[in-house]
Amino acid sequence: MTDTIFALATAPGRSAVAVVRVSGPATLSTVKALCGSAPSPRLAALRTLRHEGVALDEALVLRFEGPASYTGEDSAEFHVHGGRAVVESLLSALSDLGLRLAEPGEFTRRAFENGKLDLAQAEGVADLIDAETEAQRRQALGQLGGALSQRYDRWRDLLVQSQAMLEAAVDFPDEDLPEAVAERARPALRTLKAELDLALADVARGRRVRDGFRIALIGAPNAGKSTLLNGLTEREAAIVTDTPGTTRDVIEVPLVLGGYKVLLADTAGIRDTSDAIEAEGVRRARAWAEDADLRLWVVDGFHVKHRVELEDAVRPGDWLVLNKVDIAQTLTLDEAERWARGEGLEVVRLSARSASALDDLRSRLAAAVADALSGADFPAATCLRHAERLREAQSYLARALSDAGLEVELAAEDVRLAARALEKITGRVDPEDVLGRVFSTFCIGK
Ligand code: GDP
Repeated sequence: MTDTIFALATAPGRSAVAVVRVSGPATLSTVKALCGSAPSPRLAALRTLRHEGVALDEALVLRFEGPASYTGEDSAEFHVHGGRAVVESLLSALSDLGLRLAEPGEFTRRAFENGKLDLAQAEGVADLIDAETEAQRRQALGQLGGALSQRYDRWRDLLVQSQAMLEAAVDFPDEDLPEAVAERARPALRTLKAELDLALADVARGRRVRDGFRIALIGAPNAGKSTLLNGLTEREAAIVTDTPGTTRDVIEVPLVLGGYKVLLADTAGIRDTSDAIEAEGVRRARAWAEDADLRLWVVDGFHVKHRVELEDAVRPGDWLVLNKVDIAQTLTLDEAERWARGEGLEVVRLSARSASALDDLRSRLAAAVADALSGADFPAATCLRHAERLREAQSYLARALSDAGLEVELAAEDVRLAARALEKITGRVDPEDVLGRVFSTFCIGK
């Protein structure tokens, strides 16, 4: 029999109200034991909670009868005063009554197991709780609402239909040439393959929304990268000095731009060095910059002598930040800007010490991030787990398409495997360890 579980669902610590949740078969008897009598389902009732003759608190009590509850089981919520002692006394009373403290994500896991939501939606719940930006919130809510799952399910249904067609072609070869029947399954599979290709191309966008758009500040020592990073984030994250080579590693600072999460990194000055530790810093800086979504080359506008190094390294779409305009010569800046535009770079002239220039740069960056991450109107797959399974489905489908004209049986098997890959995303089929991994990322009480 299933245990009845309990947990504090709100953040621990002192607060106006704290919510303690209970779910499982012993819910009703637990509510009766604490309240004397159980309130009607779905009606909030004010009750004095008592345990062993001692009053614990005046609480608002809500009871749900399964399957019409979050977990699909009988469950209840106690809204108590949010003092530590109150919460402690209720939790220990529940433990005395034979209930067990929930594991992380166990309420949602039960909801999943009772068919209240699928695995992709459950991940949406976790993402919504973790959401810090407007874009993360929208994305997680879409996923929780099932928009993503509906798309996966639709694809899976199409695959199952095509599989049936292909198998029919094998089983009744007399009626028609199997190849000719199989040929009829092809257009649908081709359309599906195109949709999968698009979704995979969009995975990077979804992940950037969730994990952060990466902007690298690159440039020679003393160009002003640390000053710029501290200015943009309004924090003292990076050390600013006039000794070249102070930033020894990659300093990554999260910030929100235009409603999107951004990771801004100050990389160790990219240069040749004989110092081993510094060389490692340079290596990491290169790797971070290589992987960044946007690269800002910061140059000391006073002596733009590092242009030679830049010439091999810049890529169209990178930005050139001509810093220290307060002390630089206009002619030098004009010349650098002309060169940069010829290379396909965006150019920003500023002084990293000027607050208004930093505001302007922040808005330009926000627009660039929004441009890169908004767009496609369907929800993007957000995590690696989805991307891996989508890739798997894509490759089976590609093989099925190349086989379909030749070996109908093989094609049918590939289509079946593609459908199975998609089923794994929504958790229709999946081994225990995957479920364990997904739910262990939750907090207790969810
Ligand atoms: P990093 O090595 O690229 O991180 O460079 P820092 O941010 O440490 O800056 C190197 C030096 O340049 C420091 O002394 C900064 O105060 C100075 N600096 C940075 N930005 C400006 C600027 O816009 N104007 C002037 N005049 N000095 C700046």
